Amino acid sequence: MTDEYLRVLDPLGQVIPNVYALGDCATIREHELPQTAQVANQQAIWLRKALNKLAKNPEKSFTDVTQPFNFQNFGSMAYIGNWEAVVDMTKINEKAKESGRLAWVFWRSSYLTMSVSIRNKMLIPMYWFMTWVFGRDVSSFQVYDKRKRFLNGVEGPEQL
Ligand SMILES: Cc1cc2nc3c(=O)[nH]c(=O)nc-3n(C[C@H](O)[C@H](O)[C@H](O)COP(=O)(O)OP(=O)(O)OC[C@H]3O[C@@H](n4cnc5c(N)ncnc54)[C@H](O)[C@@H]3O)c2cc1C
Repeated sequence: MTDEYLRVLDPLGQVIPNVYALGDCATIREHELPQTAQVANQQAIWLRKALNKLAKNPEKSFTDVTQPFNFQNFGSMAYIGNWEAVVDMTKINEKAKESGRLAWVFWRSSYLTMSVSIRNKMLIPMYWFMTWVFGRDVSSFQVYDKRKRFLNGVEGPEQL
């Protein structure tokens, strides 16, 4: 739990000095936000700027150098299967709403352009291509008891 400056609070609700939390592992007191990359990314950028300002003005307090964190919702995108997606960016422009194949192209392009390193920008299309050619990697977990008998009804290895 943090305050609106992303400062971690102790169980009594008091600020713990110089300890910050953001992203999925944190929640702002009385201002819960969704656990999405959009939130984590904005918090990280905000905290980086705030800490740099504090470093340049060490005589000031953290709350003097920055405003509280404020989330800007730029919209949502989701893949819905069959090379189609939905995009809702009406927070930016009320006409920015799309679904289907075009939305899928936009969704994929966004992921690619927002990936940070050149390494990932090259790796991600390669993985997309491999998934397209060979299909998704699938893992199967099977639980069996001491007699090596699968609990889901299938015989154990020694009976096969
Ligand atoms: C299947 C799935 C789909 C998602 N799709 C979307 C989406 O479409 N759009 C969206 O906005 N969000 C999506 N999210 C949510 C998004 O991934 C998270 O909100 C975002 O990654 C949170 O960022 P984070 O930095 O807080 O945590 P993470 O990205 O989880 O980063 C935490 C890092 O800390 C590392 N770590 C953990 N413990 C330790 C340790 N003890 N020591 C050192 N390192 C450690 C982990 O390995 C990890 O790299 C999705 C999440 C999942 C699981």
